[in-house]
Amino acid sequence: MSTITIPDRSICLINKFREAGLRITKQRCLIAEHLFSGGHRHVDAAMLYSELLANDKHLSLATIYNALRDFEQHNLIRRVAVSADKVWYDTDIGDHRHFYVPAENRIMDCPDQKLPLTKFADPPKGYKVTSIDIVVHLAPEDQC
Ligand SMILES: [Zn+2]
Repeated sequence: MSTITIPDRSICLINKFREAGLRITKQRCLIAEHLFSGGHRHVDAAMLYSELLANDKHLSLATIYNALRDFEQHNLIRRVAVSADKVWYDTDIGDHRHFYVPAENRIMDCPDQKLPLTKFADPPKGYKVTSIDIVVHLAPEDQC
């Protein structure tokens, strides 16, 4: 009789998927294992594709897009849309603000998160705030 040893990190992912009601697939596990192994991260699909390829994990870009969409729909990651054609994903799903630097294809958390987010969003009567996305677009000073 042989015993299969599952690494702790994989067990955590499997539990995370089950809690989120997401079906466990080999591709989703590969993507999630890579995505969540680096702590709090901001990634886009192309970046994740390149990183996985560099780690000898050959998945199609479409599979990565679909997995990120599924993770987002099951509240495992947060979608941060910075423009009509550019979407980032954040492993920190809490409300927080971002800086976006298009010239460097980079997004980062604003260092000062102290200003209450609710100051920006008094909803009209009959509505409630469900989430707040604030992205401050930046350019290097010599380009302004
Ligand atoms: Zn963030």
